[in-house]
Amino acid sequence: MKYISTRGQVKPIGFIDAVLMGLADDGGLLLPDKLPQLSQTTLMQWQGLTYPELALEVFSLFVNEEIPRADLKKLVDESYSTFRHEAVTPVHRVTNDLYVLELFHGPTYAFKDVALQFLGNLYSYISRRNNSIIHILGATSGDTGASAIEGVRGKEGIRICILHPHQKVSKVQELQMTTVDNDNVLNLAVKGSFDDCQRIIKELFADVNFKRDYHLRAINSINIARILAQTVYYFYAYFQLINNKGQVDKINFSVPTGNFGDIFAGYLAQRMGLPINKLILATNENNILARFVNEGVYQPGDFRGTYSPSMDIQVASNFERYMFYLYGEDSEAVNALMSRFKAEGKIVIPEQLLQKVQGDFTAYSVENEECLNTISDYYEQYDYLLDPHTACGVAAVDKLVGEGEVTVALSTAHPAKFDEAIRLRNISQTYPEPIQALFDKEQQQIVVEGTNEEIKRHLLTFF
Ligand SMILES: *Cc1c(COP(=O)(O)O)cnc(C)c1O
Repeated sequence: MKYISTRGQVKPIGFIDAVLMGLADDGGLLLPDKLPQLSQTTLMQWQGLTYPELALEVFSLFVNEEIPRADLKKLVDESYSTFRHEAVTPVHRVTNDLYVLELFHGPTYAFKDVALQFLGNLYSYISRRNNSIIHILGATSGDTGASAIEGVRGKEGIRICILHPHQKVSKVQELQMTTVDNDNVLNLAVKGSFDDCQRIIKELFADVNFKRDYHLRAINSINIARILAQTVYYFYAYFQLINNKGQVDKINFSVPTGNFGDIFAGYLAQRMGLPINKLILATNENNILARFVNEGVYQPGDFRGTYSPSMDIQVASNFERYMFYLYGEDSEAVNALMSRFKAEGKIVIPEQLLQKVQGDFTAYSVENEECLNTISDYYEQYDYLLDPHTACGVAAVDKLVGEGEVTVALSTAHPAKFDEAIRLRNISQTYPEPIQALFDKEQQQIVVEGTNEEIKRHLLTFF
């Protein structure tokens, strides 16, 4: 298997090169040139596997034997041994028809750990094997930063610098990033917004000499390794359901989404042969993706502040990967679309493709009050506390799913990370001990102006 760019201008590369490249050199996104097709027999063989065993099987399909199986097994085992739950990503039954896939049992209590624990270990493996330096540079609205830092703290050969908007992340998110005291971690708190952080990172990565001389690597979901790691739990959730419930024909998945990363992993799992009925795309009031699925127009709207800040995104970085498939793997068509998007600020697809989109996804955008209502309803009725991101996915299920259909709603964060929102409904929660302990730790961060020069200056001292 080789990896190709959605824009067709990168010659096919192997798995490790694809991980290191991050964003494709032609500005596109990398994808496997051919997706593995899983037979019914394979699925049946996988049904009894533990999470790490299943992850090993799935990754084996994508790494091309560039990593010997014994090494890969070690990487996978190490990555998932840090999870607090023995099932890694357990499925919790809420009603007979609704199950919640809890993806928040990793070190930072958000689903991003599932991919970033693995990516951190993978970077460390590549660094050891190639005797190369890896400098990770990223921007975060909260969860990615904490999760990426946790994935590489203290690892030899790796340094990580994360930019976050000063005082614009939740308290727990800030503490998770800044109370880490390893020498290979630098937190820069930027006076400005997440968009400012993101822009600075983009511009630094666009400086090809700087990127090369300082060995800069990416950790956001443009990295294909993250998407592949996330396909695993779709399979795992399906197997847990049929193991508990007996035969289920097809199941729905509901996914709260921002950058289109998590739900795109589900779409890949479906293309590989997982019997998914509906893929439900849930957004908050920043609903560019829901509008796209419902109306066929992809156009950023005005920024809205919500209770689910990790989904407050106007331009979804993984969207281009789906366009590649929607247009029949035609990179010329993708190039034309993306140029038009750049020039006109929107993409409009023809009616016949819109029908295809609506066959792939159903979508709903959740308003702020509705999100909080869902949290209180489920807390009162089922004694189950949803975080605001998960609540968006569950609200979409309530809206879009008919009776008798079985749905798995992905839970992307532990409610303790977003206590500010949950307290608005007078629900009080006890923090898990590791989160409570953060409040007594010393913070390490440098508050900086949001200019490229100042950030570069700090990077040069650090790297
Ligand atoms: C990142 C994040 C999301 C959105 O995931 P995408 O892959 O960007 O769609 C949803 N919920 C939480 C808690 C997150 O941290």
